[in-house]
Amino acid sequence: MTDVSLVRCEEYGRENAYGAVTRAIDLIGGVGRFVRPGERVLVKPNILHPSSPDKAVCTHPDIIHAVCRLLREHGCEVLIADSPGAGSVYGPSQMEKAYETTGYGQVARDLGVELNVDVSSLMVQNPGGMLIKMFPLIKPATQVDAIVIVSKLKTHSLTYMTAGTKNAFGLVAGMEKATFHGRLPDPDDFARMLVDLNELVRPRLEIIDAVLAMEGGGPYSGSPRKIGAVLASDSYAAIDVVAAKLIGIEPMDVPTIRAAVERGVLKSGLEDVVVKGDGLEGLAVKDFKGPPTYDEGGMKGLNVLVKKATALAKAYALRPEIIKRNCTGCGRCERSCPMNVIKMRKGVARIMYRRCIRCYTCHEMCTSAAIELKRGLGGRMAVMIFERRNRVEGAR
Ligand code: SF4
Ligand code: SF4
Repeated sequence: MTDVSLVRCEEYGRENAYGAVTRAIDLIGGVGRFVRPGERVLVKPNILHPSSPDKAVCTHPDIIHAVCRLLREHGCEVLIADSPGAGSVYGPSQMEKAYETTGYGQVARDLGVELNVDVSSLMVQNPGGMLIKMFPLIKPATQVDAIVIVSKLKTHSLTYMTAGTKNAFGLVAGMEKATFHGRLPDPDDFARMLVDLNELVRPRLEIIDAVLAMEGGGPYSGSPRKIGAVLASDSYAAIDVVAAKLIGIEPMDVPTIRAAVERGVLKSGLEDVVVKGDGLEGLAVKDFKGPPTYDEGGMKGLNVLVKKATALAKAYALRPEIIKRNCTGCGRCERSCPMNVIKMRKGVARIMYRRCIRCYTCHEMCTSAAIELKRGLGGRMAVMIFERRNRVEGAR
């Protein structure tokens, strides 16, 4: 049995967040079950792109403050570290700026915890990996005694949702993340890689900030959506099961949860996940908007089709389209594209679709709402054919 605590937290605020995080961790055994006094602990938020807390892109600083305060009170040495999105090259000064924008700089000053600005990486062997046998990790992830993942609950164009399992991807160093997108365009393979990574780094504790989540076009361009909850567990997979249920997603529709079940991290019926605390009944939302890639049937259909006919699947899948009037020419998408199929022309991004693998990294990286996910002509025709076929089969 794997316990996941779910605790009501109506709003942020240092004391509110501290109360909710403490209760969530106490419900699964207390902080002493996961870390020992004197241990050096890496607290990993979700930065993605440094954004102010009200945008719901990054883990809220009050939740980070609460986790760090608890660890400090327990006698741990705390380091906040992340490697933000693959579209920008982060050096120490960019990291410092990121911490200020997200509010973690103030957290560090208030509590006397360290902020990591070391952007170097180390190749770490992963002999137990099913798919990936070596990961380029940010150095501090290899040097601490324990890792605590503190995620933001959001939708995700490639992996349906991002929470515990996906947030660990930020331990992979900077631009190296893009190479994984290039190597693993199928969401199920990408999810298997994420399970490999989580099994390698083995976070001791997982916390999810679902006070203000993100729905719709996540993980960057969606809309903030109040849920009013904090979750905790020692299992990246189990916490994601409860997070999925919280926002009305069928857990087995999430590639990372499927991959964890396939690996045997969870039982296939998910009956080994036990919810403690305030329960899903009063907190789960029913009308949470998923990402267009899934809500419009694109990715579910794509997953089946990819195995059958790649060309057809590609035509069917939503594709990234540049909204020229919003494009600032920043080049973030160009730098993050694993297939190198985005080029700047006259200060505006342009995509060469022939080799685009529909990984949506560019959509994730664009901070100007200049990339929309839409179907091309072939995809719209495929939808019409499928819908007609479904109507005919339904009428039989
Ligand atoms: S689409 Fe334009 S604004 Fe968006 S990341 Fe690419 S270059 Fe920057
Ligand atoms: S252009 Fe295609 S391959 Fe490149 S990042 Fe965007 S979706 Fe991925």
